[in-house]
Amino acid sequence: MSHASAAQPVAVDHGQHPLPSYLDASNLGPWGNYLQQVDRVIPHLGSLARWAETLKRPKRVLIVDVPIHMDNGTVAHFEGYRVQHNVSRGPGKGGVRFHQDVTLSEVMALSAWMSVKNAAVNVPYGGAKGGIRVDPKKLSLGELERMTRRYTSEIGIIIGPNKDIPAPDVNTNEQIMAWMMDTYSMNTGSTSTGVVTGKPIDLGGSLGRREATGRGVYTVGCEAAHHLGMEIKGARVAVQGFGNVGGVAGKLFAEAGARIVAVQDHSGTIYQGAGLDVPALLQHVLETGGVGGFAKAEVIANEAFWDVDCDILIPAALEQQITADNAGRIKARMIIEGANGPTTPAADDILQSRDILVLPDVIANAGGVTVSYFEWVQDFSSFFWDEEEINARLVKIMKHAFAAVWDVAQDQKVSLRTATFIVACKRILHTRELRGLYP
Ligand code: GLU
Repeated sequence: MSHASAAQPVAVDHGQHPLPSYLDASNLGPWGNYLQQVDRVIPHLGSLARWAETLKRPKRVLIVDVPIHMDNGTVAHFEGYRVQHNVSRGPGKGGVRFHQDVTLSEVMALSAWMSVKNAAVNVPYGGAKGGIRVDPKKLSLGELERMTRRYTSEIGIIIGPNKDIPAPDVNTNEQIMAWMMDTYSMNTGSTSTGVVTGKPIDLGGSLGRREATGRGVYTVGCEAAHHLGMEIKGARVAVQGFGNVGGVAGKLFAEAGARIVAVQDHSGTIYQGAGLDVPALLQHVLETGGVGGFAKAEVIANEAFWDVDCDILIPAALEQQITADNAGRIKARMIIEGANGPTTPAADDILQSRDILVLPDVIANAGGVTVSYFEWVQDFSSFFWDEEEINARLVKIMKHAFAAVWDVAQDQKVSLRTATFIVACKRILHTRELRGLYP
């Protein structure tokens, strides 16, 4: 009798048993934010909700040690990650970020947002993300290359053109993608351009990829402005982050007649009520690495950025910037999320109650991965398209995806974020159901 009770199987109530602690919803970082977003969509999933637990657990998590020789003769160890959140719809896809604050749970959230984003624009990918906990500005070029190559080699067991395809993200660029492509190709013994996207044009990269995320931000911004009856010409825009996403979006809005009144980045916050000279600012950022020190603007306190009088706010830097603490102060009518995860769920609620329209990351910044998809297709076919064709296809996909999400938001009276999650999670879970469980 006693041995029978000891052998009692643990009762597993499908999907109800507690998550392991590192997956827990009490996580206050981006992963916890993501779980709250999933909980908001589950009531809208109908019968597919029975698969929803899948969304709360990354499929595969890899932590790697990245040791390299430093220029001063010492050996340094960096911690690297690659997370494949979901691969039901195709290979994993998502960027690699180098940042001193990167953590596993942040990369898990970023990989999950890639699953949602890729499904929202209907590119045939799952979601993945990688990162190294490092401040790349402190490395020499040689150290950066050695770290990138060793990291690529370590995650080489799970990436590949049909398995998981990295791309640029915060602090990574075309050169880093070239080293990743070369390292993977050397290890596999064949030239494999399709293993990463965001490569230099001469190495199988795509025209338009560098500007694609910013172009997508601009495209959905114009679509939403149209619905709101807002003119882009003359609109006042504030941008946080002036790199590959914020810089390009700012340039496109300025070219369409908007006034870029404030820009914030790691080097400070600048303001110019009449509108900043965007080409001059982009040149300044290219030369100095940040907006700080730009002569033709007023310097304001970083906190004051959230009080700036503007019509459109574009957070295009890091996660958790718009929180319950500052959401009540924002003056914009519309927020376009160029960054991943810039708004917490608590802030989302405040913004919604204040009638501020949020165009969520999972649709607003999907232009980058959309042109990554074009790059991957071009690499496979070794037939390259011109920039006009790429931009036209990008705009078509973004407008189509945005219109579908807008309709769901209207029909079901939910935020655009929940609407995007409804569209995307249904796609993910439908393929999950079709494929069934192995074994
Ligand atoms: N890092 C970008 C993102 O967050 C692009 C990912 C990709 O092109 O795979 O969407």
